[in-house]
Amino acid sequence: MIKLHQLSKKYEKFEAIQSVSLTVNKGEIHGIIGASGAGKSTLLRLMNLLEMPDAGEVEVDGQTLTKLKSRELRQARKSIGMIFQHFNLVANKTVYENVLVSLELSNVLRKERPGRVMECLRFVGLESLMEKYPAQLSGGQKQRVAIARALANKPKVLLCDEPTSSLDPNTTAEVLGVLENVNKSLGVTIVIVSHEMDVIKSICTKVTVMANGKVFETLATTPQGIQT
Ligand code: ADP
Ligand code: ADP
Repeated sequence: MIKLHQLSKKYEKFEAIQSVSLTVNKGEIHGIIGASGAGKSTLLRLMNLLEMPDAGEVEVDGQTLTKLKSRELRQARKSIGMIFQHFNLVANKTVYENVLVSLELSNVLRKERPGRVMECLRFVGLESLMEKYPAQLSGGQKQRVAIARALANKPKVLLCDEPTSSLDPNTTAEVLGVLENVNKSLGVTIVIVSHEMDVIKSICTKVTVMANGKVFETLATTPQGIQT
């Protein structure tokens, strides 16, 4: 579903990502773990070209994103949802409107948008809070809104940047449960960047370990633990 081929990314002279190749298969919940500064977040943002690589190629769902024109890239990005550590909700919009925003630039017919928004809110269990504003929600609820927003364009891939790092253990479990459901029920391939081994161990089927801008290794996991 995602193929990174010899990707490199520099900030000034600092090589944040050094010739990384990585495959994420369809249906995986693929964890990326490593120390702070290892390049995890940069690698994730390269997967939808939120960051442009200096070298290498990014392929998602059979399309080489690095070869697309900006218009085609906008279209291709619809199949890639993303969520963040700090949720990035719009403070002066309601839960309903925050999800609707992601449909505003899409080619989903206007009259179909409310139904689509409600379907996504129902999926994350937040229908009853649709008139609330982000400030009125718990961290776990905010992240569920962000997941609903990411689902609105029916993505094939969901990129998650430290999705539970601002949450306590209970809400972490709640959000991970929703992500697992997104993977199992909707068939969305998920990539999760985290520095928390417990998070990775609880839901990931593959784990890539990063250090100093490089992939150290990729391991398959099982319910019994990580296998080499
Ligand atoms: P991680 O997610 O593993 O903590 P990051 O991908 O955020 O790592 O960052 C990798 C390295 O690149 C860090 O040393 C960080 O300081 C640097 N870096 C990240 N983003 C930028 C940026 N926009 N400008 C300059 N340096 C950056
Ligand atoms: P339709 O009549 O085609 O079903 P609506 O515009 O009535 O579409 O919206 C469907 C659902 O979304 C309804 O439950 C409605 O109350 C809710 N809804 C629509 N717009 C908003 C909004 N701005 N804020 C909160 N809820 C909304």
